[in-house]
Amino acid sequence: MTKNKIEKIFKILSKQISNPKTELTYKNPYTFLVSVVLSAQATDKSVNASTVKLFKIIKRPEEMIKLGETKLKKYIKTIGLYNSKAKNIINLSKILFEKHNGKIPSDFNLLTSLPGVGNKTASVYQNEILNIPRVAVDTHVFRVSNRIGLVKTKNPDETQIKLESIIPKKWLKSAHHLLILHGRYTCKSQKPLCGDCVVYKHCSYIKSEQNKKNISSQ
Ligand code: SF4
Repeated sequence: MTKNKIEKIFKILSKQISNPKTELTYKNPYTFLVSVVLSAQATDKSVNASTVKLFKIIKRPEEMIKLGETKLKKYIKTIGLYNSKAKNIINLSKILFEKHNGKIPSDFNLLTSLPGVGNKTASVYQNEILNIPRVAVDTHVFRVSNRIGLVKTKNPDETQIKLESIIPKKWLKSAHHLLILHGRYTCKSQKPLCGDCVVYKHCSYIKSEQNKKNISSQ
C-alpha cells in the first residue's frame, strides 16, 4: 500500500474518531497497568466493571500486596483467566514495590520482565502513559490492519513491527486506538459493517470479497 493511501486512511479514521483513547478506566499509571493485564482476552467493559470497585481501595502496589491474591480474585472473578491474572498482578506488584520503589519502569525490557506483561501490554502502557508512539497489536488491530491491507502478516509481533515502520509519524501515537476503535465498532470480527465504513473505498478486504463474488457468479 502506498504512503499516500496509508496517510489518507488515517486521516479519514481520525476525522471519524476525533478523540481516540483507551476505554479502560484507571486512576494512575499503576492502575492502568493492572487494567491492561486484566484485559488480555477480555473486554474493556468487563474489566471496568470489576476495577470500578477494586480501584476505590487499591491505587498502589503495596496496597495490592496487602490485599493479597485470594481477596483480589473476589474482585476480578468475572474476568476470564482471573486465577492466573490475580497471581501475576500480585507478583508484579511485589517486583514493583521491592525493585522499583513502587514505580513502573519505562524501559520496554524491564516492563516485559514483569509477570503478565508481554509485548502488547508493554506497548499499550508506553503509548498511553509515556506518550511513546507504539502500535500495540491486539485482536482488533491485527484483524483490521490485515483486512484493510495496511499489512499482510501472520502474527501480532510481526504486525507491530510492520505497522510501526509504515505508519506516518503523525499518526503513530493514535494509530493503536484508531484501529482498535474501528475494529470494535465498525470492522467487527464476524460481520464487518462495510456499508457504514469510512475507509470502504480504500479497503482491500472489500475488493477481495467483490472479486470472490464476481468469480463465483461467472
Ligand atoms: S470496508 Fe469492511 S472490511 Fe474494510 S475496513 Fe471497512 S468494515 Fe472493515
